[in-house]
Amino acid sequence: MGSPLCILIVASDQEEVFRIIREIKSQGFSPLYQVAMSKEDWDKRIHEEDWDSILVSFRWNPVIPPMNLLLDLKSKQLDIPFIIISHPENYNESLKLMSAGAADIIDATNLFRLTHVLERERRELVFRREKEVTQSYLEKSLKEIQFQNYAVDQANIVSITDASGIITYVNDKFVQISGFSENELIGSSHRILKSQEKSKEDWENFWQTIRQGKVWHGEIKNTKKDGSSYWVETTIVPFEDDDGSVFQYIAIHHDITNRKLAEGQLTHDAFYDNLTELPNRALFLARIEQRIFEYNSNQGGFPIVISLNLDNFRRINHSLGSTAGDDILRIFADRINKFCGISAITTRLTADSFAVLVVDFLSIEEGLDFAIRLQDHLKEIIPYRGYDLYLTASFGLAGFGMGGKEAEEILKNAEIAMFHTKENKVGSICTFSEDMKEKIHYQLEIQNDLRKGIERSEFIVFYQPILDLKSNEIGHWEALVRWKHPKKGMVSPIDFIPMAENSGLILPLTKFVLEETAKFIQSVLETRGKTIVVAVNLSPQVFQHQNIFHWMVDIKQRYEIPYETIQVEITESLAMKNMEETVPILENLRDIGVKIALDDFGTGYSSLSYLEKLPLSIVKIDKSFLNNVTAGSKEAKLLVSIIYMAHDLGLKVVAEGVEEIAQFKLLGEFKCDMIQGYLIAKPLSREDANHFLEKFTGQIY
Ligand code: C2E
Ligand code: CA
Ligand code: CA
Repeated sequence: MGSPLCILIVASDQEEVFRIIREIKSQGFSPLYQVAMSKEDWDKRIHEEDWDSILVSFRWNPVIPPMNLLLDLKSKQLDIPFIIISHPENYNESLKLMSAGAADIIDATNLFRLTHVLERERRELVFRREKEVTQSYLEKSLKEIQFQNYAVDQANIVSITDASGIITYVNDKFVQISGFSENELIGSSHRILKSQEKSKEDWENFWQTIRQGKVWHGEIKNTKKDGSSYWVETTIVPFEDDDGSVFQYIAIHHDITNRKLAEGQLTHDAFYDNLTELPNRALFLARIEQRIFEYNSNQGGFPIVISLNLDNFRRINHSLGSTAGDDILRIFADRINKFCGISAITTRLTADSFAVLVVDFLSIEEGLDFAIRLQDHLKEIIPYRGYDLYLTASFGLAGFGMGGKEAEEILKNAEIAMFHTKENKVGSICTFSEDMKEKIHYQLEIQNDLRKGIERSEFIVFYQPILDLKSNEIGHWEALVRWKHPKKGMVSPIDFIPMAENSGLILPLTKFVLEETAKFIQSVLETRGKTIVVAVNLSPQVFQHQNIFHWMVDIKQRYEIPYETIQVEITESLAMKNMEETVPILENLRDIGVKIALDDFGTGYSSLSYLEKLPLSIVKIDKSFLNNVTAGSKEAKLLVSIIYMAHDLGLKVVAEGVEEIAQFKLLGEFKCDMIQGYLIAKPLSREDANHFLEKFTGQIY
């Protein structure tokens, strides 16, 4: 029977109420009830309980019209059965109430149906209420599920398969990433995606896990319809029936392609050179190690490393731009690779240096033969954007056991041999030997010290006077740099200039010499009111990196000295090699009044024909040229003809390294314009040079 009935009785007199209660009790119920006999009662009581029913006794003169109550109930949205106990004279009225929503009408003269109706109404009410609760719960859940589905669908690639792995659902993202249409996917298995990089065993484990109803988590590489690949991180959730058998799998995938590509790139970058795609130093060393192992266990050939460095590659970058430089490096790498074949391994070590590991030869001599052939092959013209480029490379060779048995040592030795080639004969080949090592060590030490030396101002500039034979006055000076090494004492420029040139330190060094020279000129101008001219040596490397013209303009402005006070000395090699680059710069210099001297004439190509092409004012004949000059000798005749030809071209001639009076006299006879050498003075410090200027009378001997 459950909880007692809870009834609100609306009646006009107490008697009526008792009658109703008696009737209910007579049928075995003990209702909880309240009575409303006025509108106030109604208003108060209606909210007091959770009424199972409202019983309205309807007489011809009711205290409150029942229709008003029913409407009030509706307006309050209270779902309480509204039962009318009607007297026969009110039947019509009561029927109206029924159509307005009353639950039932009971004949007031015969109440036996009352408890039955009350019970029924209570049952229905409970049912209605439960239904309402369930419905709102259901609606809420449904909304939540829809929302979750939406969220899952938005963020993930989702697919559902049946127990046998046949796809029954895919979301839009699945369609998008795979490139297959929904129609193509539904009904087929995941095999359509041709997953890669998983073994048979992996798949067996996979199926075992999910068939047991366990969640599987892992990464899968799939193939799109267009053949390209994509990576997904996948979670597969099996769904089981009540009997425990899996009836479907929901797979949620995340696209991790970008991450995978980045990871792949990282591994690639760790071992390969981006520009040429060649193995890098680390991988190359590992390969040497491997070949050494094979060689030691009689499974492979004699490991030889060839180190090669492009000669003058900076020039390509400088004149054609770095993009062209990159292209050419790639072409070059390709050439090496193709020539050396598949058993060889090529690496790029720095911008313009490569190394090749070969194992096809029995001895270093055979390796050398091969290297020579490779070198010739690389010399072949490279046609590039309408240019015919001619590149050479300097080679160094080292084999297993030659001063080293470990990968790193062998490679280093090959590089040392290559540096040796660079130093001695650019474009040729050297095989490693121990003495090279010592020399390189010394040079490396010097190179290190050079860097520090520039920072610590260990350099000074000396000035050597050059005598004008006609006027018997100091025509000009040459600035010569000196290094006061903290341990080694004075180091000759012959020892450190080449190193400075190879390491780029020549730039700050030259700048320093220029600044010092300008200070010297300025100080002489200020203290003596005398304008002196000083020549500065310029290495080819300075022209490659710097527009020396801008330096001159800057120096002139800062020190307020005329352009004519500075001369530059360039070597034959510079003039010959990069004519197309250097000539315009030199012409600019000449145009502002800077005189240009050709240094060391006679040591290199010694060809007068190209002198015409350069904007020169002076030719300096190298000291070695004077060594064998005696009156009437072959050398003397050559010297005379050089001086005459130079004069024909409008050039002045300086003879360098004049130490003896005899030389001095001969040169005078030969109409040489100027002489420089210990006979006049050694290179002097700034103070000594000032001193010299003060004392110099023109008297040589
Ligand atoms: P260089 O330009 O031919 O300079 C002349 C060299 O001959 C100087 O050697 C000078 O001291 C030396 N010399 C002068 N008169 C005599 C002589 O009568 N007898 C002998 N035996 N030698 C004489 P230094 O100062 O040792 O310079 C050597 C080379 O170093 C220079 O040769 C030049 O090529 C280079 N150099 C020196 N200073 C600089 C510099 O500031 N920049 C650049 N790029 N190179 C420099
Ligand atoms: Ca010089
Ligand atoms: Ca010289």
